[in-house]
Amino acid sequence: MTIVFKVSEKVQQKMISYYEDKRREKTPPYAIFQALDADTIVTLYESGKVMFQGVSADIDANMWVETEKKLTGLTINMNEMKERKEKTTIARKTIYGLTTIGSDEVGTGDYFGPIVVTASYVPKEQIEFLDRLGVKDSKKLTDEKIMEIAPTLIKEVDHCTFILKNDEYNKYQNNGYNMNKIKAILHNKVLFKVKSEHPQYDKIIIDQFVFPKKYFEHIQEAKDKVKDITFLTKAENLCASVAVSSCISRYIFLKEIDKLSEELGITVLKGSGEEVDKLTAEIVKKYGDEKLYHIAKLNFKNTEKYKQYM
Ligand code: MN
Repeated sequence: MTIVFKVSEKVQQKMISYYEDKRREKTPPYAIFQALDADTIVTLYESGKVMFQGVSADIDANMWVETEKKLTGLTINMNEMKERKEKTTIARKTIYGLTTIGSDEVGTGDYFGPIVVTASYVPKEQIEFLDRLGVKDSKKLTDEKIMEIAPTLIKEVDHCTFILKNDEYNKYQNNGYNMNKIKAILHNKVLFKVKSEHPQYDKIIIDQFVFPKKYFEHIQEAKDKVKDITFLTKAENLCASVAVSSCISRYIFLKEIDKLSEELGITVLKGSGEEVDKLTAEIVKKYGDEKLYHIAKLNFKNTEKYKQYM
């Protein structure tokens, strides 16, 4: 069993002293220490990630989850903990430094607003600049940070963005296209455009949302297809061009939500929760339900659920 998660600075300090006399002589690359505690191997990395390996790894891991809670109040998510680390670290080492074209999308979990898909071309010489800008781990960036750095990315990184408006989305859905098929078609479209402009690259990477076999089924009818794709989960952490695409897509999505709010005179919410149901009722009262076709994704459950607030 292998468990990996990130701990705070405070817990790192605790761990360093706790494992002081259990340290192994050799320290793996990028690690602060590696220790052997009973039958569990514990490795703390410079990144703040800690890895527990062994049959009772969960017992040791749990102890530090509790320590984290006690010291900082932070709850470490058990699902995140069981991340398959080998795959991640290998992918990071072998992919992060390459010249890549990568794509990512935003808006697929939001009732209101379009779907935005971007593909970016990042030559390896540009990665350091992007790291300094703070593009890494774009999922963890706040909207404020995105608003701050995305204009620079849009200017400095060659990319292609496609915005799928709600009426087009709803038309696709009415024609029997599901979300993954729509996404696949859009990813293929922007990747093809960027690839034609930048035929020199090491890898093309998609932040995986569907099995590769399914992906290629979905784009079967497309005239131009990009076929040499590496599919990776959590790709925005492993590949600079995917991280950039994720930032740019989110920026444009946020802008679209702002535009929509202005147009409606109502602050539009992201996501698809209960608050969105209430907001939908408010919008329908003001503009009628035919308005939703142009501003929302009608196949979401919200289209039924808002009616209880009418
Ligand atoms: Mn993604």
